[in-house]
Amino acid sequence: MNKQKAVILGAGESGTGAAILALKQNFDVFVSDKGMIKENYKKILTNNKISFEENGHSEEHILNADVIIKSPGIPDTAEIINNAKLQNIPVISEIEFAGRYTDAKMICITGSNGKTTTTELTYHILKNAGMHVGLAGNVGNSLALQVAEKNFDVYVVELSSFQLDGMKDFKADIAILLNITPDHLDRYENKFENYIASKFKIIQNQTETDAFIYCDDDDVITSEIAKRLIKAKQFPFSIKKTLKQGAYRKKDKIIIDINTKQFTMENGLLALEGDHNEYNSMAAGITAMLNNISDKQLKTSLSNFTGVEHRLEKYLKIRNVLFINDSKATNVNSVWYALQTVDEKIVLIMGGKDKGNEYGTLKDLVRRKVKAIVALGIDNKPILNAFTDIVPVYDTNSMETAVKTAYHLADEGDTVLLSPACASFDLFKNYEERGRLFKEAVRNL
Ligand code: ADP
Repeated sequence: MNKQKAVILGAGESGTGAAILALKQNFDVFVSDKGMIKENYKKILTNNKISFEENGHSEEHILNADVIIKSPGIPDTAEIINNAKLQNIPVISEIEFAGRYTDAKMICITGSNGKTTTTELTYHILKNAGMHVGLAGNVGNSLALQVAEKNFDVYVVELSSFQLDGMKDFKADIAILLNITPDHLDRYENKFENYIASKFKIIQNQTETDAFIYCDDDDVITSEIAKRLIKAKQFPFSIKKTLKQGAYRKKDKIIIDINTKQFTMENGLLALEGDHNEYNSMAAGITAMLNNISDKQLKTSLSNFTGVEHRLEKYLKIRNVLFINDSKATNVNSVWYALQTVDEKIVLIMGGKDKGNEYGTLKDLVRRKVKAIVALGIDNKPILNAFTDIVPVYDTNSMETAVKTAYHLADEGDTVLLSPACASFDLFKNYEERGRLFKEAVRNL
């Protein structure tokens, strides 16, 4: 019998992983990337004798496929995807593909904000409890690579909406939906409802024996749930109301009620600070209880988690000025939570590539807690326009100047917070580089 042909579009972490898995599953594999392939991935492909092309897609090869595995970075509207669909070639995501070759339990996490934090925290709890667990999705190695090379019992998988879009039969045994605020609408015909539908794909294919964990304080989520027939068992979490089943806040404690079991912990002992992180801890805590992690172990792991780089990362104190790196805050909502969490007085460094931000929701917090804003970007007009009436705004175009200006403005006991609300591409390669250069500039003060 002829081998089935798998074509992989995009040779990054997920594409290379998918290629290795496809090879192991005895497919005839071809990898195609429209741009340059990074050296480390090229090496993996070459070492495994996988044929590939870069700097362009050759249709005659690609449209010959039995299945196409598409990188989440490629939009559905790309010409090559359209052409494949016209020929009825199934186009799926790497996660969907990997899911076909493993029976491991899938704990999947999505939301507009907090995915990586909650994924890492959940992984930390399960791993510390001795479970044989892998970490996948947007973080670490691809799921496909781990399915090919490891044999984990459980995976904690971070899923972006782009990854969810390529899912068909994949099922999450435990699905976590943290929040939904408008983001990436350019990929969803500028329709919020399309983006919501994409996020809700996290529960598609779930049955009565699966679990759906979600934020009950998020009106977008609850009104969508009201419209749907949800099969999975529901475990909501809230910091505003008491719930019968799920997690909630009671005075200074978080309480998790699952069936007949109850877990309590003082929220002051949680490693991750702030309301937004309390949500993340609740979601991870429910997951831990559903996996029968003991109270003692859960408490220890929720309190000794060290956090994730570039997310409200307390970096250094200089002359009693605290520097916090929240470079990953690339939208207004995450800056709102950062300002909620960090004590006044704050010198806020923000700006970058503005995705059409509405800064209105930040104004009240800025008025109360921020003493000055240092705008950092090539075009700082949106920040200047939004905040000049409320606080002094300084216009800077390099990280070094921004950090020096902020340090100059800060007094003892103040905090300098990098929480940009914008993408980083105007001045930096990505948010990681922005965060690293922030820390470097702080070290050099
Ligand atoms: P994601 O992976 O979804 O982008 P991260 O965990 O990397 O999320 O966090 C991104 C930003 O959002 C950080 O600035 C972080 O402080 C903030 N954040 C984390 N959790 C939440 C939450 N539950 N709600 C809102 N903002 C959050």
